[in-house]
Amino acid sequence: MPQADRAIIIGAGVAGVTAGIALNRAGIDATVYEGSDEVREIGSGLGVQYGAMKALRKIGLEDEARRIGQPLTAMAWTKWNGKPLVTIPHIPLKEKLGAQTHNVHRGEFLSLLVREFGRDRIVVGAKFTGFEEDETGVTVHFEDGRTERGAVLVGADGSRSRIRSHSLGDSEPRRTNVVVWRSMPHFEHPLLPLGVLRQAYGPGKMFSAVPGTNQRVFWFAVGLVSEFGDQPVTGPKEELMNAYGAWAEPVVEMLQATPETEITRTRIFDRPPAKRWGTARVTLAGDAAHPMMPTLGQGASTGIEDGVVLAKYLSQAGSLADSTAVGRAFQAYEAERIARTTPLVKNAHKFAPIALASNPVSTRLRDLLLGYSTDASWQRRFLAQHSYEP
Ligand SMILES: Cc1cc2nc3c(=O)[nH]c(=O)nc-3n(C[C@H](O)[C@H](O)[C@H](O)COP(=O)(O)OP(=O)(O)OC[C@H]3O[C@@H](n4cnc5c(N)ncnc54)[C@H](O)[C@@H]3O)c2cc1C
Repeated sequence: MPQADRAIIIGAGVAGVTAGIALNRAGIDATVYEGSDEVREIGSGLGVQYGAMKALRKIGLEDEARRIGQPLTAMAWTKWNGKPLVTIPHIPLKEKLGAQTHNVHRGEFLSLLVREFGRDRIVVGAKFTGFEEDETGVTVHFEDGRTERGAVLVGADGSRSRIRSHSLGDSEPRRTNVVVWRSMPHFEHPLLPLGVLRQAYGPGKMFSAVPGTNQRVFWFAVGLVSEFGDQPVTGPKEELMNAYGAWAEPVVEMLQATPETEITRTRIFDRPPAKRWGTARVTLAGDAAHPMMPTLGQGASTGIEDGVVLAKYLSQAGSLADSTAVGRAFQAYEAERIARTTPLVKNAHKFAPIALASNPVSTRLRDLLLGYSTDASWQRRFLAQHSYEP
């Protein structure tokens, strides 16, 4: 019989595996169950933000993340035709926050986490279907008929979390009107200096690119479902070349350098923030808890913070057999994390229509707002977003 004093985590994404590492570091045995037959992340990029870098520091992984990442030093925003709008330096933030955002390859970052957690602690091909909770623990059921027993259950099973629908009775996430394409090809260009995230805005579209390690660039393109449809009618490259073909350098060059098979197209879902994430012995982490639009680049980063904060509170509970102490730990975890993520979810949702303004009046207004914004106002905004201590 498997130990009943362990944590069961569902989902081997960034949030689930980080939670596993953090719990182990806190002396709590954890096993991760993954529904797919292998642990994998799409071949694209990820900005591991300030708060997440601090969280990684707490579990001894900040240096490793820096080793495989490229530090962010500035953001340069332009119009679709290359005309500059605003440049936002990030070095003052690094100095104030004592950490620095790093851009990593998703697959390499997840491999680092899996190696650190221990591949043998991840059970693949284990699709969660349901759970029952009682005074002493949780019994978890999987599609192939097996059951597992643990003291607590953490749902890190992504934006369409089944654990969330079991414990909160939630329906499907909100379908936003946004579609994104992303990739991380080998590509270098004089307009893409190391450390600078370049973001171009056009009517109803934007294109973001930042160099990563090993001469690769992480790009993502964002458009409206009303223009591109829920499902593609052509291959992603043709679709993108039709939409971005007239944009200034280096967008077209970057698309040309990207193999068609390495472009992922995703419809974006989010949810309005919830007031609680679980029950006495069940909680959520990552996109399962707070799916958000990618506008602020905070989804995976807050998922990393979740795991570290969860471990902090659960380790204070003493024994996982103590229902009252576990309940208290989950309440404290959820209170801290809901306060942290609620404004991010709301702001990411609010900013999307501004970023994707499509009619001439709103596009002009957006460009004026960005073009006339001051450095001090951006520093204030970013400090408010990133000053969190996990
Ligand atoms: C274009 C774009 C750019 C982004 N850029 C950034 C960025 O720069 N920085 C940032 O921090 N975030 C970014 N994000 C957000 C980030 O990608 C997500 O928030 C993050 O990957 C979510 O991680 P997760 O571990 O919570 O969920 P997921 O990665 O979705 O992992 C969930 C796991 O659970 C498994 N699973 C699902 N159902 C079951 C089941 N029933 N049983 C067992 N296993 C199950 C899945 O197979 C999967 O492995 C971006 C998102 C997009 C779309």
